[in-house]
Amino acid sequence: MYKPVVDFIRSHYQTDNFIALHEPVFIGNERAYVLETIDSTFVSSVGKFVDRFEEMIREYTGAKYAVATVNGTAALHMAMLVAGVNSNDLVITQSLSFIATCNAISYLNAEPVFVDVDLKTLSLSPEKLEVFLNENAEVINNECFHIETGRRISACVPMHTFGHPAEIDRIKEICDRFHICLIEDAAESIGSTYKNQQTGTFGLLGIFSFNGNKTITCGGGGVIVTNDEHLGKMAKHLTTQAKVPHRWDFVHDHIGYNYRLPNLNAAMACAQLEQLDKFIELKRNWANQYEQFFESTAITFCKEPENSKSNYWLNAILLKDRTERDEFLTYTNDNGIMTRPCWTLMHKLVMFKNAIKGDLSTSEWIEDRLVNLPSTVKI
Ligand SMILES: *Cc1c(COP(=O)(O)O)cnc(C)c1O
Repeated sequence: MYKPVVDFIRSHYQTDNFIALHEPVFIGNERAYVLETIDSTFVSSVGKFVDRFEEMIREYTGAKYAVATVNGTAALHMAMLVAGVNSNDLVITQSLSFIATCNAISYLNAEPVFVDVDLKTLSLSPEKLEVFLNENAEVINNECFHIETGRRISACVPMHTFGHPAEIDRIKEICDRFHICLIEDAAESIGSTYKNQQTGTFGLLGIFSFNGNKTITCGGGGVIVTNDEHLGKMAKHLTTQAKVPHRWDFVHDHIGYNYRLPNLNAAMACAQLEQLDKFIELKRNWANQYEQFFESTAITFCKEPENSKSNYWLNAILLKDRTERDEFLTYTNDNGIMTRPCWTLMHKLVMFKNAIKGDLSTSEWIEDRLVNLPSTVKI
């Protein structure tokens, strides 16, 4: 029953070898730019590619400020820090997400609160967010509090799952109404747009990741984007050890972080970003072929939601139930095609099993059925 799927994927990639889920593709200026940093000796914390990359991100996303970081998790940590997430605060996010979001919340000694996702977007559900807040939160002096524990809900961090944009304008309206700061985990959605606006630019801050398995990569890297001058400057300062600029004196005015992206990585990031639009076009084309293929089957292909353009970072399908999901995973992986289920839901992990949560029935329904398919760009 799953053999046609395997044959279809093999015919696309035209190989009898193992097919990975997502591999990086280096066909632009990567080699030239990286060699340039080596020849110049500027491989580390100083160099022109960091500035150039930040400029390119500003231009690409339309955000006023961009701060390159060593990875996406550091970007999330920093974004929440400058947004004012404090010790003991609560931060709303998805249970259906990669661990990085919850880890970054934990670095600030805050705790995640889990709200369900939407079946249409696989991302945070505005309806469920509104229900959770109406039932559990109150606003006092322009701050939001969790009624039962009295703890402050300082931020909401939705994630644009697999590149599919959340209904971010509705989420933003709800966050504004409840005086909760919106930070977008757009780690997976570089280049995806919602109502023609880049994901990551709706919230007070947004972040992207350039890890090896993402749509574009620089080995490891991330970036924070914001339109807020104070937060943008603060993020730059704190990610670079909070050093007060001076020709020779080392004076620091905050506890800083060594979260800067090395010039070596920034060189690769510039070369990859130059090719992003081409990669997205190829990814969307492959997604379109998947969609057509699955139309004549009992398997549901996860299409981009309304009003949005997805980068289709990872293609996803929904099987009938958990048994079928596991049969599909076994068959494809046995036949040299890497597929995988979505992440184990965050509220099921030991660290977060006691977290406050709303109704998570859609997240659990998806966890039982979802499988990611090979999504590497084929040149
Ligand atoms: C990849 C990813 C991150 C950041 O990961 P890094 O590996 O630290 O760059 C954060 N959140 C989500 C949802 C991700 O998929």
